[in-house]
Amino acid sequence: MQVLSTKSGATTTKLLSPGKLIVLTGPSGVGKGTLMRLLLSRHPELNYSISATTRPPRPGEVDGKDYYFISRDKFQRLIEKGEFLEWAEFAGNLYGTSRKPVIDLMKSGKSVLLEIELEGARQIRATFPELLSIFILPPTFNELEKRIRGRKKDSEDAISRRLKRAKEEIDSASEFDLQIVNDDLETAIHDIEVAMFSGKELF
Ligand code: ADP
Ligand code: 5GP
Repeated sequence: MQVLSTKSGATTTKLLSPGKLIVLTGPSGVGKGTLMRLLLSRHPELNYSISATTRPPRPGEVDGKDYYFISRDKFQRLIEKGEFLEWAEFAGNLYGTSRKPVIDLMKSGKSVLLEIELEGARQIRATFPELLSIFILPPTFNELEKRIRGRKKDSEDAISRRLKRAKEEIDSASEFDLQIVNDDLETAIHDIEVAMFSGKELF
């Protein structure tokens, strides 16, 4: 058993057993990617699975690092071959988690963090009932819109599709083990760390 020191100075006992799956879900723009990057940098024992998508890369995104950017045809072939652990259509594009890398990591006792949208998170929850599922909420809907726009990476059409979908996603928050509001980033990270490392009842 190890002891984890959080940035706020609190100390929690680390009970995350190896080979576990943690899913972060929530509306686009809420800060899932930001939270995930911080968690990965602070907890090297956590692993991340690079998703495949048919969405074109945003400026600065790198194939094989941010996503595997693939054609719809290739994505369909991968679905048919059963290569995805989960996949979903989101705002007009397909997104999926490759089965093999995740299963291999878990089999070798490593924990995996997934950052995915609602439908995929539901599929994963059905496949792995023991996972820790965390829904990230925005402090307000206006703040969510501000964050999506502030990111300056989506077209107006993509922004309106994401905001429309966000309303439906937020209504589903209570399906998940935990709901964490990403208002102050450090507080949200701390809350996730507490859930991951001292959530006895969840692991
Ligand atoms: P998602 O992965 O959920 O789509 P991102 O991680 O890309 O969201 O975050 C969307 C935008 O919101 C980014 O510009 C990010 O810097 C910003 N952001 C994330 N968390 C916070 C926060 N707690 N407070 C203010 N801005 C935030
Ligand atoms: P974006 O286009 O903003 O990168 O991602 C759009 C949405 O797709 C986000 O909510 C993100 O979490 C989700 N997403 C990213 N990868 C996957 C994946 O592999 N599967 C599913 N179901 N959703 C994903």
